[in-house]
Amino acid sequence: MSTPPQPRVLVQHDPGGVPVPLVFDSPHSGTDYPADFGCVAPMPILRTGEDTHIDDLFGAAPAHGAVLIAALFPRSYIDVNRDELDIDPTLLAGAWPGELRPGEKTRLGMGLIRRLAQPGVPMYDRKLPVAEIQARIDTYYRPYHATLRAAIDRTHERFGGVWHLNCHSMGAVGSAMTADGPKRRPDFVLGDRDGTTCGTEFTATVFQWLKGRGYQVTINDPYKGVELVRRYSNPSAGRHSLQVEINRALYMDETTREPNAGYTKLKSETTALIGHLAGWVRGRTA
Ligand SMILES: [Zn+2]
Repeated sequence: MSTPPQPRVLVQHDPGGVPVPLVFDSPHSGTDYPADFGCVAPMPILRTGEDTHIDDLFGAAPAHGAVLIAALFPRSYIDVNRDELDIDPTLLAGAWPGELRPGEKTRLGMGLIRRLAQPGVPMYDRKLPVAEIQARIDTYYRPYHATLRAAIDRTHERFGGVWHLNCHSMGAVGSAMTADGPKRRPDFVLGDRDGTTCGTEFTATVFQWLKGRGYQVTINDPYKGVELVRRYSNPSAGRHSLQVEINRALYMDETTREPNAGYTKLKSETTALIGHLAGWVRGRTA
């Protein structure tokens, strides 16, 4: 008898050097498409939802004393950066037991479980049984959140403060499914939900460092951050979460999803940013 394959949920890399109160997470870089996905959207379109390579671009975090957590499953299967109840009732084959909270992301077709892979491209040709969605929540969503929460709590307990960088990428140009519409995006977008998920000095430090390297950077425009910066942050208690979105044109070919000529340079820049932040947080907790 063979054992069924274990779901590949996430990897956690603990600090390899002297620990600092920094936690990085990459929730959307997973590329292991589960066998029970049952999705009809073509793979090249499905993959446009991935933040491919973001886990690798921040791969130096543990060597600088930080925790790095990365999802292995794709964001299109279940999106950990959504409220657990941001579910589109029109996707369901049966009645959801209890309350649902479909919001703006669901309206755009990209709630917890996507309805659209891209504008006009449906994810499914079927209704999804409630038990199928519950299994994705139990097997992938909740373990990811439990792992991130534990890392943030443990770091906060040890240092009395924690700085969490929630790492993403964005297409070079928006679409009808995104808040900004079809226009060219900046190099980096920082999101602190209008100054509510971290102290302004954290956002300012990352902003100024990136500007100093010559990048075009905006704050909360068009991305403010969603569930992962909202849920565990509490700046007045020393718990700071900031979202960073990197323009994919800086490091990959958006058609083949392979690294482009800018990859090595960008990785050395993200590595230098990690080093800068490690020094910065050390100074704030010493
Ligand atoms: Zn993302």
